[in-house]
Amino acid sequence: MCHLPKLSERAQALLRQQAAPEWQDWQWQLAHALTADDFGVTDCAAFPMRVTPYYASLADLTNPEDPILRQFLAAPEEGIDDGFSADPFGETAHAAVAPGIKQRYADRMLAMMNVTCSTYCRHCTRRGLLDTARRAQLETLVEAIQARPTVREVLLSGGDPLILPDDEVVRWVEAIAALPQIDAVRLCTRTPVVLPMRWTEALVKRLATFEKVWVQTQFNHPKELTPAVEAAVARMVNHGLLVSNQSVLLRGINDDPEVMASLCAGLQRRRIRPYYIFVCDPIAGISHFRTPLADAKRLRDYLLTHLGGLACPRVVADLPEANHKTDI
Ligand code: SF4
Repeated sequence: MCHLPKLSERAQALLRQQAAPEWQDWQWQLAHALTADDFGVTDCAAFPMRVTPYYASLADLTNPEDPILRQFLAAPEEGIDDGFSADPFGETAHAAVAPGIKQRYADRMLAMMNVTCSTYCRHCTRRGLLDTARRAQLETLVEAIQARPTVREVLLSGGDPLILPDDEVVRWVEAIAALPQIDAVRLCTRTPVVLPMRWTEALVKRLATFEKVWVQTQFNHPKELTPAVEAAVARMVNHGLLVSNQSVLLRGINDDPEVMASLCAGLQRRRIRPYYIFVCDPIAGISHFRTPLADAKRLRDYLLTHLGGLACPRVVADLPEANHKTDI
């Protein structure tokens, strides 16, 4: 459980600016991100706290169980030794092609294009892997793809690639999309959730010209489906970007079947395809978010009987020894 935060004067002043024009500027949001000091938190050294004023403004700061608050406020449970490692899947060695580039499947390649995020999710499974030594280089990535003709899809991930400048995002997408073997460039980003103003008309139009861009994001709770999100996703979809969602199953946040069904229906209404629900990986520091497998199965059964196929995601686990996502 989170402690109720003691907001700094700076944070209180920032959160009062929701009607100001700069609130809609994604770079202002990044420059004014709130940190542990703004919430009176002192014990999150293992993984820093950072949250956009926008996302923090969605939280009920008087409720320690608030589903938004729990996703960004460090909890005392993170410090408990749960016996797990930061890299149980051996991401740093296993399947590595070059620093920040890995290939687990013949048709796909993943590159860590950035190692920072606008908001650090407390349940992040890469929390122990976000350092600059693991940032991929574009030239190395292009060479690696060209050397592997079976690769037809590239995932640009992080960290969050979408907090880089427009020109940098477009430079990477353009270089990869230009390769004839590539059918899809996936941008893996939480910005539609925590920084929807990032999806400006100008960026969306530039990305849409490549006709290969899929945006893969992570909504976890219906409270995240705000008017700002609705406007951003409409810009993306109307210009031809395809948007899909991968939720993480989080205890006490979205493991109630009605909450998850409401999220999936809300995503479909906004033309976001609910794609996967991931069972929380066994990573050090996030055990308090993990749900028993029996609860995941009950959730799956509820969704199958309450949602049509287009709104119903697969409930899966990412097992290190498997060569595909494993259905629960
Ligand atoms: S945005 Fe993604 S990489 Fe960044 S903290 Fe959240 S889950 Fe981790």
